[in-house]
Amino acid sequence: MEYIPIHVVIVLIPEQTCVQCGRCCEKWGWGQKGIIEDIIPWIQEGRQDILQHVSLIFQGGKRCSGRDISVDDLPGIVLIHYWTGTDGRALSYCPFFRKADDGKVYCSIHDVKPKICTGFMPWNEGIRDYALNCPACRNSAP
Ligand code: SF4
Ligand code: SF4
Repeated sequence: MEYIPIHVVIVLIPEQTCVQCGRCCEKWGWGQKGIIEDIIPWIQEGRQDILQHVSLIFQGGKRCSGRDISVDDLPGIVLIHYWTGTDGRALSYCPFFRKADDGKVYCSIHDVKPKICTGFMPWNEGIRDYALNCPACRNSAP
């Protein structure tokens, strides 16, 4: 499997360069809400490897796994949750987090990862306790 960097950073500020330590994914890469736009391509491309880790709640309270839905079901979804195990239990880690032999962390679904991940740039978050743990967040140091 080809591993792709977790964060592809446009280095407008040279001091803020992602070193792929993976701390952001460990802390924020699970227990998150998703959006419909994330799961449409996963359904269309048959990405059961991803959908099996998604749980959904529909109008009326029905719950199901992402592996059991089609595009016709999308209008009824009221909540998308990342991530669950294949037994449906919520995970407290991201199943797509990979630590490689080079010591860096890679995202195994980089090309199709959710918007919550593609849009996450910790140096812009203003989350002080977190930013201080990100090696790329030097501008947030005390
Ligand atoms: S915590 Fe910071 S340096 Fe580490 S992977 Fe996340 S963005 Fe990159
Ligand atoms: S999907 Fe990828 S970028 Fe998002 S939390 Fe998991 S490993 Fe990190």
